Amino acid sequence: MSTESLKELLIEELKDIYDAEKQLLKALPKMAKAAFDEELKAGFNSHLEETKEHVSRLERVFKLLDEPAKGKVCPAMKGLIEECSEILEERDASSVRDAQIIGSAQRIEHYEIAAYGTVRTLAETLGEDEVAEILQTTLDEEGEQDKKLTAAAATVNEAALTE
Ligand code: FE
Ligand code: FE
Repeated sequence: MSTESLKELLIEELKDIYDAEKQLLKALPKMAKAAFDEELKAGFNSHLEETKEHVSRLERVFKLLDEPAKGKVCPAMKGLIEECSEILEERDASSVRDAQIIGSAQRIEHYEIAAYGTVRTLAETLGEDEVAEILQTTLDEEGEQDKKLTAAAATVNEAALTE
């Protein structure tokens, strides 16, 4: 595979995650609103702020690569968010529902972790060091979010036991 086409692959993947992040911008306020646990609610709100930063980092990446910042619909994120919306429709707010929302949020986080790992490595291979560094910063934050969700699950599950 020539460098040219590997670069095209990087752009394709960036368009996918750019769209996925933008979908998340719309979904996270709904998740925050739905959360029963106050700390979980605050967590989704800070995740929203971080996601705005992820979007602007991707815009910087597109600029560095001389590409227009344009998304391409990410059907995987659509499906993950759809699953989360179903939870909100099917159950009333409770710790058990919070536990289910966290499960959904962690699936989303793992999708992001996979996507950012892929583009970071592609950028490294292509010698786009600055791009790789920016993507690594976001990848690290996605990992931190996942850990925070794991910690939140412990609290929420405990509360659900006595509900
Ligand atoms: Fe993100
Ligand atoms: Fe995230």
